[in-house]
Amino acid sequence: MKQTTAGLLLVVSGPAGVGKGTVDSALMARHPEIKMSVSATTRAPRPGEIDGTHYYFKSLDEFRTMIERDEFLEYMHVFGMNYYGTPKSYVLEQLALGHHVILEIDVQGARKVKQAFPSAVLVFIAPPSMETLKNRLIGRGTETSEAIEIRTQTAYRELEALPEYDYVVVNDSVDAAVDEMESIIRAELCSTAHNKELIENLLGGKNVTC
Ligand code: 5GP
Repeated sequence: MKQTTAGLLLVVSGPAGVGKGTVDSALMARHPEIKMSVSATTRAPRPGEIDGTHYYFKSLDEFRTMIERDEFLEYMHVFGMNYYGTPKSYVLEQLALGHHVILEIDVQGARKVKQAFPSAVLVFIAPPSMETLKNRLIGRGTETSEAIEIRTQTAYRELEALPEYDYVVVNDSVDAAVDEMESIIRAELCSTAHNKELIENLLGGKNVTC
């Protein structure tokens, strides 16, 4: 019997520096059929960041026009400075094609997505400890010490939202974290919530083809 082939909407959050980007990239390297949504932001690119790959870098006016045109699945004012948002059209297109789509967004965005799409799977990438996280941020060398302090405080606040997530993955080793992400996807594909059509067909006595 065939389980549904509809794509999963995976929301991945976690404090800055926890390595969510590394985990997601490694997961997509194993599974090219998993797609990553590229967010729009008004923040300036960091060294090495490419427009259209890491983010769509927008001016405040451009971002506001996108809001007015209802082009976002969700958007947020993060850190009291910059806007971040998930363009709607790409995500909906990919899900319709049966691809899994990852949204790498903050906890407020995750809440909004869960409200709009209750079937979204919320995964929180956690550090092994807060000390490890701070050391990773310092080691990244892209932030001022003030920004690191703000991000560490933000990380504590974000951790408080952890119980709202469906799954938690501790990023101690990237390979192990990716294995766990794969397990989550496998489990979700077998969930009754994700197989409503199959269940209706079974209960209705219909044949389900392989
Ligand atoms: P960064 O500036 O380090 O790239 O990202 C800062 C925060 O914004 C991270 O927590 C990241 O997950 C979040 N973020 C990135 N894109 C989006 C988005 O489209 N929507 C929301 N709500 N948060 C986002």
